[in-house]
Amino acid sequence: MSSLNLDLLKQFLDSQYSRNLVFKTENIEIVLMCWLPGQKTVVHDHGVSDAITFVLDGEMSCITYYPDGTQQNSVLKKGEMELIPVGIKHEVKNNSTSNITTLHIYSPPLSSENANQSLGYNNETQTQTISLNDQVLNYLVGCVPEDLLKLFSQKEKQRKTVTIIGGGFSGTLVAAQFMKQHISNEELQIILIERAPRFARGFAYSTNSPKHFLNVPAGKMSAFAGDMNHFLEWVQKRNPTISASSFVPRMLYGEYLENVLFQADQNKASNIKFKRINDEALNISIDEKNNQAIVYLESGINIKTDHVVLAVGNYPPKNPNVKESNFYNSDKYSRDPWSAKATSGFEINDSVLLIGTGLTMIDKAVELNHKKHSGKIYALSRHGLIPQTHDLNSGSINADFKKVLEEKTLKQIVKSIRAEIKQVLIEGGDWRAYIDSLRPHIQTLWQSLDQKNKKQFFRHIRPYWDTHRHRIPDQAAIIIETMINCKQLEIISGRVIEFREKENCVEVFYKRRGSDHIESLTVSKVINCTGSEQDFCQIQDPLIINLLEQGLIKPDSMSLGLEADKNGALLDSNNQISKILYTLGPTLKGQLWETTAVPEIRVQAESLAKNILTKFMDPLKNSARS
Ligand SMILES: Cc1cc2nc3c(=O)[nH]c(=O)nc-3n(C[C@H](O)[C@H](O)[C@H](O)COP(=O)(O)OP(=O)(O)OC[C@H]3O[C@@H](n4cnc5c(N)ncnc54)[C@H](O)[C@@H]3O)c2cc1C
Repeated sequence: MSSLNLDLLKQFLDSQYSRNLVFKTENIEIVLMCWLPGQKTVVHDHGVSDAITFVLDGEMSCITYYPDGTQQNSVLKKGEMELIPVGIKHEVKNNSTSNITTLHIYSPPLSSENANQSLGYNNETQTQTISLNDQVLNYLVGCVPEDLLKLFSQKEKQRKTVTIIGGGFSGTLVAAQFMKQHISNEELQIILIERAPRFARGFAYSTNSPKHFLNVPAGKMSAFAGDMNHFLEWVQKRNPTISASSFVPRMLYGEYLENVLFQADQNKASNIKFKRINDEALNISIDEKNNQAIVYLESGINIKTDHVVLAVGNYPPKNPNVKESNFYNSDKYSRDPWSAKATSGFEINDSVLLIGTGLTMIDKAVELNHKKHSGKIYALSRHGLIPQTHDLNSGSINADFKKVLEEKTLKQIVKSIRAEIKQVLIEGGDWRAYIDSLRPHIQTLWQSLDQKNKKQFFRHIRPYWDTHRHRIPDQAAIIIETMINCKQLEIISGRVIEFREKENCVEVFYKRRGSDHIESLTVSKVINCTGSEQDFCQIQDPLIINLLEQGLIKPDSMSLGLEADKNGALLDSNNQISKILYTLGPTLKGQLWETTAVPEIRVQAESLAKNILTKFMDPLKNSARS
């Protein structure tokens, strides 16, 4: 048996700690690191790799950052080791006055997925990539404890794999539900792919503005339908003054979702492997023979998987239809209102145009107010309607909505709803309570309408419905009202005709509703707040373009999302229900209409995970059915 002399690899560099490859197999990578006093890493994680740090000489200081916001400081002494699981952020430093040598074991080997740290070796010439065999394992004897050797020599088990594309609210919840619900003996692997730097946030909860509030009270924002106080209890631990009726900042909800994912990972059964991959899915191909799919990532990684969940959610809004679209390439225009750059690039006393007057406009106006913006803000939409305000005392209605549900046409439904609201008001009730109580029936009502009635809804009812259904909390309403009263915020009902870009500003030409007269206004920035693009034929996203090209997905007839069956299984261009591809959340808007917010998505996530797991647990029954 040949023995490995690690001393030969030791080298201390003045510039930075050195990384010296001991060896690398398909399954593991072992690196010897040498640290002079004061040398340290940046805060980093190891992407999809588990890692073990083993101190050979000296004392190593580590800080581990947990997703729930806590951190742990530790000092590892000679002979001690620490496990750093997949995705956990940490930093390492030689805080002592002596040199340190440490052995780092990564499984699988680090790759360019883990781009937030240096991956090169300082002993490049000695690099060897060898396959795992007894001789290699023998090298390790004496370097690492015996239990670890057993761990690394195990062959990767065959696992059923579910790949979730999109780590926003929907993807996070499906991943958590898989980990909560899987109880069979089947080995399961859940892979969550997110292209943004942070998981469990998505468009809605990645904001860093403390003035972006949830538009639903804390008591109704649990991630789990079966545990309605889950969010409230979590948030009250941080701030006991928060009650079920409080509207809390969305960034706090993002932290909660991160914690939901972390807890699900911590508490999962031992036969489940969970990986987060920070990457973009560009394409999927179907391997018909093996009843599997391959997901292609931007980094070049291909993932073989049994099922794929498209949790791709919201896309930036479409550009308004104007005479000349060149302006849309200008830096005076932000198509994506949720990007950090949207409210930058202009002075605080400059004028700004927000296109759209719904929830996103409210967000941006409140954000500008928080940034002490003093310039004029115009907000323009066809109807110029802004969201109504919540009233926490509105209560709920105890009604079965039998009459409304029996109506056959949109006109009749609207008439019945109006009559019932009138009655509620006569009895001293609140229209808000009526709308909220009707909400669980919206999917049924939507599905009862034919195409013609759905189009009528769009043309005549939608703006009124949206402003009553999607309401804002008092905190935001007070700011908006003040801005309107002092004439800083001007709401215009009309339509943009043309943008003319000048050196320092943009001239915007528009027609007011009901007028043929063209008016203009001058602003420094235009921000598109018209809401997520829903027409999949218009979405300029590589994954969507590729899936449409292959006919693996099909836009629904209202161009509001994707065609899917009642379990979220996607339909292909030949109307075949996929056994591999699924979706949930905003992509189902055409099918369900009411499907973009937490109360609906949490239920979909639970039943989608259950449905897919049932297939794994009972494959015979499943193939007999198909
Ligand atoms: C601004 C805003 C505020 C909201 N506030 C509330 C609220 O207060 N209460 C409520 O109940 N609902 C609210 N909602 C609605 C709802 O919660 C969100 O729409 C919901 O978060 C949808 O989550 P999602 O994961 O489906 O979509 P998204 O949040 O859009 O997440 C999708 C994720 O998928 C990723 N992705 C997409 N394609 C790829 C790819 N090819 N590869 C890798 N990653 C990909 C994206 O980067 C994104 O992070 C709000 C929505 C918005 C937009």
